[in-house]
Amino acid sequence: MGLDLHTHTTISDGALEPRELVRAAARAGLEAIAVTDHDTVEAIEECRDEGQRVGVRVIPGIEISSYVHPEAAPEGPVDPSREKNLHLLAYFDPGQLGRLREWQLERRRAREDRLDRMLERLAALGVPLARAQVTGPAPDPRRSIGRPHVARALVERGYCETQRQAFDRWLGQGRPAYVDYPRPDAREACALVRSLRGLSVCAHPGLDDLDGSLERLRDAGIAGVEVYHPDHSPEVTARFRARAESLGLIATGGSDYHGGQKNEGGSLGSVRLEGAVAAAFFQALARAAAAP
Ligand code: AMP
Ligand code: ZN
Ligand code: FE
Ligand code: FE
Repeated sequence: MGLDLHTHTTISDGALEPRELVRAAARAGLEAIAVTDHDTVEAIEECRDEGQRVGVRVIPGIEISSYVHPEAAPEGPVDPSREKNLHLLAYFDPGQLGRLREWQLERRRAREDRLDRMLERLAALGVPLARAQVTGPAPDPRRSIGRPHVARALVERGYCETQRQAFDRWLGQGRPAYVDYPRPDAREACALVRSLRGLSVCAHPGLDDLDGSLERLRDAGIAGVEVYHPDHSPEVTARFRARAESLGLIATGGSDYHGGQKNEGGSLGSVRLEGAVAAAFFQALARAAAAP
């Protein structure tokens, strides 16, 4: 079969333009990919158009930045610092794309606000960046700006050597230029996906330390777990495969391809679903689309 359910384009923090991504998928011998940019579906139409040309099925998707509330401790109030970041992958029918127009505009605004606050913090920390250095001189208005764009600019300015260093010194969670911003929680994000008759999947649970949250996420509405991911070791993969099965969730996977610059993810098609795993995904997607 050859199905990769997690890929990024230049519309978020990937290195390949939407059409380039689909052509690369064809070269990698993939029959189908899901395009899952951070908080935006602006790449999907172009990707589907190119997919028709080169014979790759493009499934509309998105990777929603969300979070999971901490467990309420039996004694005392919940500690908000125990909130966990959640990347929620969603897959849906192309007919639903238009319904995300308003939502993604609002998300883009929230990300632009966060960018301004990150730049203020960085300036105060002695590593000032011009906004145009991050967004480019003529920013694409469709683009979803994230921390990797800031990290790239910090490297370009010579403040550090690698994007990883930029995250370790300034941008990672708990580092001095990390800025929290309003995001939907898991229930809200799953409800949005349900309103699109789509399928919600918890992305890379091993990266986000979500072992202890999967049951809550199932109750919030996820249908699957991204078991197969380049940053999951064989042991982590086996553990989440078993966890998904015992919770009645499907196992999915994808390369989380971001292109040349190695920050997260692997090469295109480095994770490819085949046979029963791919079939279970398409069945679940069809079931979600037919939900009342
Ligand atoms: P954002 O959407 O702005 O929160 O950025 C999230 C993206 O940043 C992830 O999808 C990764 O591509 C990248 N990223 C997150 N943590 C790191 C890290 N420690 N080093 C390099 N890249 C990272
Ligand atoms: Zn990313
Ligand atoms: Fe992610
Ligand atoms: Fe991703």
